[in-house]
Amino acid sequence: MRKFARTISGVTPLAVMTKPMNCPGQCLYCPTYPDAPQSYTPESPAVLRAKTCDYDARQQVALRLRIFTEMGHPTDKIELIIMGGTFLAHPVDYQYGFIKDCYDGLNDVVSATLEEAKRLNETAGHRCTGLCIETRPDWCRQEEIDRMLEFGTTRVELGVQTLSDDVYRLVRRGHRVEDVVQATTLLREHGFKVYYHWMPGLPGSTPEMDLELSRMLWNNDSFKPDGLKLYPTMVVEGTELEKWYQEGRYQPYDDETMVNLTIGIKSIVPKYVRISRVLRDIPSKYIVAGLKDSLRDIVRERMRRDAIECRCIRCREYGHRAQAGREIGEPQMVRMDYDASGGKEIFLSFEDEQETLFGLLRMRVQSKPVPVLEKRSNGNLALIRELHVFGPEVPITERREEAAQHKGLGKALLREAERVARDEFQAGQVVVLSGTGAREYYRAEFGYSSQGDYMVKTLRPKFNNR
Ligand code: SF4
Ligand SMILES: [Zn+2]
Repeated sequence: MRKFARTISGVTPLAVMTKPMNCPGQCLYCPTYPDAPQSYTPESPAVLRAKTCDYDARQQVALRLRIFTEMGHPTDKIELIIMGGTFLAHPVDYQYGFIKDCYDGLNDVVSATLEEAKRLNETAGHRCTGLCIETRPDWCRQEEIDRMLEFGTTRVELGVQTLSDDVYRLVRRGHRVEDVVQATTLLREHGFKVYYHWMPGLPGSTPEMDLELSRMLWNNDSFKPDGLKLYPTMVVEGTELEKWYQEGRYQPYDDETMVNLTIGIKSIVPKYVRISRVLRDIPSKYIVAGLKDSLRDIVRERMRRDAIECRCIRCREYGHRAQAGREIGEPQMVRMDYDASGGKEIFLSFEDEQETLFGLLRMRVQSKPVPVLEKRSNGNLALIRELHVFGPEVPITERREEAAQHKGLGKALLREAERVARDEFQAGQVVVLSGTGAREYYRAEFGYSSQGDYMVKTLRPKFNNR
């Protein structure tokens, strides 16, 4: 049966898992099994799938494409998600090989180099329109950033978990809040989308503190991630945390507390954030204590009862609301500006009166140039970090009238972003960090050209009638 939710946001996510290898971290809540990648349990569905392919990336991609096709999902726009431990800490050759294999799987051709595989993918049948890598904040320095650009990465999920150095120390996280600040800044300055993993209920925290730190995510310009994945702390079999639990040194929040806290977190999330998942992919037989079931339904039910709305992107997406039978109005362009990591973020969207979201664009304006690009003009640089139009995915060849993706919303968002960049910020260039498979769109439709790992367009200053 086709799972509608998988493609409702317009692009099909495809997770690929690396082979089990050690992670530099020692986090005391992290599952470590010899026959599964770090932080995963042997019977997680993603691990089982990867094992049948012997963790070979090309085979995993081919297998998933086949299954998606059988299930009736479109597969022309794919977001690759690289899973398993801290990928960027694996041997560098392995990383390059793994990513090339992913593109080879999409292209159905074995290329000689990663560059060639990426170039082929620009016009391939299964285009990689986004690539996501999970990493630790202290494994996200300039060296890792440069490598991620070469891979064609567009989104980075940082394992942040909390914003307290005391809690980091207690759970042996091995990095500090300062590392989160630096990683977030570097990622934004290079045009990546930044998601945080967030773990309420860690040892040393309290529900009040978790809520306070969640507020800090949005009140402090050093953070403000584009997305959040909530992972309530669970005690997993075989972890150090299990010992703490057995010895009475740690007690997870009860379900009621976690439900209330999740509602508290959701109710303060700004409109530019996407909350994407509320439970880790761990089979319940491995969970010793803490939440065993997804909170999503209970939370949704309680919020409806108490008339609390989550205004996050996911909850407002056109596809989800249309599926839920909500009345949909006419899209209007809406703009929100906010400061983050030393620059200005401009969040453009199309929404109806009920804030149903049809599409969005994230643009960052900064005075700092992107180091890998040759600077053609002085002044501000405008970096487009995301352009996304929602609605059930429609294959490129099948132009259905009602599909939001083809109503020209993407075009209107991009044109407005270029106008804002040029007229309001005197930016000489607009730079897009796009997935390999989206480059042709910018080139053919909007006159952008490739420069390094970016798509670039020089803006002509507005003609003044003087
Ligand atoms: S960094 Fe992530 S994968 Fe590594 S030990 Fe910590 S939780 Fe586990
Ligand atoms: Zn939400």
